[in-house]
Amino acid sequence: MHECEYSKTMMCSSFSCRFEKGRIYTYIGEVVVSVNPYRAMNIYGRDTIEQYKGRELYERPPHLFAIADAAYKAMKRRNKDTCIVISGESGAGKTEASKYIMQYIAAITNPSQRAEVERVKNMLLKSNCVLEAFGNAKTNRNDNSSRFGKYMDINFDFKGDPIGGHINNYLLEKSRVIFQQEGERSFHSFYQVTVTDAMKVIGFTTEEIQTVYKILATILHLGNLKFGSDGDVTLIENSKLVSVLGDLLSTKDENVEKALLYRTVATGRDVIDKQHTHQEASYGRDALAKAIYERLFCWIVGRINDIIEVKNYDARVHGKNTVIGVLDIYGFEIFQNNSFEQFCINYCNEKLQQLFIQLVLKQEQEEYEREGIPWKHIDYFNNQIIVDLVEQQHKGIFAVLDEACMNVGKVTDEMFLQALNGKLAKHAHYTSRKTVCVYLCNSVGVVVFCFSYSVVGFIDKNKDTLFQDFKRLLYNSSNPVLKAMWPEGKLRITEVTKRPLTAATLFKNSMISLVENLASKEPYYVRCIKPNDVKSPLLFEHERCKHQVEYLGLLENVRVRRAGFANRQLYPRFLQRYKMISEFTWPNHDLPSDKEAVKRLLQGCGFEHDVAYGKTKVFIRTPRTIFSLEEQRAEMV
Ligand code: ADP
Ligand code: MG
Repeated sequence: MHECEYSKTMMCSSFSCRFEKGRIYTYIGEVVVSVNPYRAMNIYGRDTIEQYKGRELYERPPHLFAIADAAYKAMKRRNKDTCIVISGESGAGKTEASKYIMQYIAAITNPSQRAEVERVKNMLLKSNCVLEAFGNAKTNRNDNSSRFGKYMDINFDFKGDPIGGHINNYLLEKSRVIFQQEGERSFHSFYQVTVTDAMKVIGFTTEEIQTVYKILATILHLGNLKFGSDGDVTLIENSKLVSVLGDLLSTKDENVEKALLYRTVATGRDVIDKQHTHQEASYGRDALAKAIYERLFCWIVGRINDIIEVKNYDARVHGKNTVIGVLDIYGFEIFQNNSFEQFCINYCNEKLQQLFIQLVLKQEQEEYEREGIPWKHIDYFNNQIIVDLVEQQHKGIFAVLDEACMNVGKVTDEMFLQALNGKLAKHAHYTSRKTVCVYLCNSVGVVVFCFSYSVVGFIDKNKDTLFQDFKRLLYNSSNPVLKAMWPEGKLRITEVTKRPLTAATLFKNSMISLVENLASKEPYYVRCIKPNDVKSPLLFEHERCKHQVEYLGLLENVRVRRAGFANRQLYPRFLQRYKMISEFTWPNHDLPSDKEAVKRLLQGCGFEHDVAYGKTKVFIRTPRTIFSLEEQRAEMV
């Protein structure tokens, strides 16, 4: 067996053994791997929280709380912004993990029970319920699947207590409001009334909540709206619905009807009303339903941000306000039939993988070099080339797509594919067949993935056209909440000069800023693994797990760690923690340097073989040594 195959198999066996014993967390270095238990675990209670609070990573068995605590400690002790990146496929346990992290942070902060901090904590937790109601849905993979990516900052004051937060959302799967696969549902918000409570509690006004309901009802009615034709004329078959929509949107019925059947076009200096074909009218109706839901969702996120943003904090008085960011975002998606959405999602994961490579692998190797520790260079696949293939200016797939969408006249998906072939035929990671473009992702020199996407729908989805007439219709509503959601409807047809940015460009820009943001923080990683497809607490499928180990890059992670060291600490810090276990260092040492003192201490304990001495830090190879040091320390203090 190839060495790589063997290691993956071993890794999965170890996850599987631990899974069977109910040990769902495992460390690889400082990365925590979590296997979805698919059953309630009694490991998140107050007593467990107490066990992890303020402890070092290796002092306790692997747990999500330990990572949360590490991120919190780094933030508090060293005044650093940190972030926790949670990844894994749909149903792997990312969102649950993010909630436990939030709960942990809420539980360990504000010991003095300041009322304002308690209020903020409550808001942060409650805002999550609202977001889930509007952004989650039942899918075949997960009964509570997040259909959007979420990044949440929690801000802390100098005492380390939460004082506010901010949420960024990414790529909501808005098409779900008009179409669901068999066995799936639309967003929870269409079926639940109990959200209202959470919305009220966090401070939405009655008028706002009513508008939210009206919008949901509008979308449901749009779903029932049917077009017919009489000769060349397109008509609304169930015209009674028009007045229902008029009421819900607080606008005149005839305006609703007109926006559904006509679009205003400027030809030179003239403005004319052009009637939709049957097909255009249906397209417009669906685009409207999707757009108002997406706009509603973004508006809700915006309102939550108003409510939870940091208020009354003056850094000059109170010291720097630090941040822990939590990213809960869709992992790689590889289905039978992949389209524009999967393309975007997988691009996002390539970006995150790139960040991971830069931060964990590169940084690690560089640290050993800097510290003068002998170190055998490890090859890993740097996926920058894949990221470039997608996002590069002028040449990348997104750029070619945008160019195709800019063309006046009818551009088909096939023409886009031809343009890609023209630009990228020679690219080592690109190839195409008749209706699909394919790119390859590679891992340590062995091709492990081949992502193929049907180009059908790329042009439409990227253009994401919503006729301007709808924007004007909604802007002219007499409902101020609704009106405020559609500011661009203010423009007259002759004033609309700029094309709206394409979906791909918007997404690319948001990903670039996300990665920049994460790169400025100290990262902690949670990698979630889904043990089976049937939500079973008993079944662990090895092949499935191996697949995930591959694309989560866990093997590279282990290689760097194995070749390297589980733990490293600055000499003075190490002494501070363990000096009591050696007669040479307690209470103080008379050796020429802290480094010499650490050497003497470790020799005395018999750990010489397991450590290396860098310029400023001691490097410890196996966690067992740390455990042992911790035990000896516990006996002394
Ligand atoms: P993802 O966000 O990765 O798509 P979720 O976090 O929504 O997945 O998890 C899917 C389901 O798996 C949850 O609804 C829950 O039933 C189960 N689950 C996930 N993590 C845990 C956990 N730590 N303990 C118990 N059940 C879990
Ligand atoms: Mg989720």
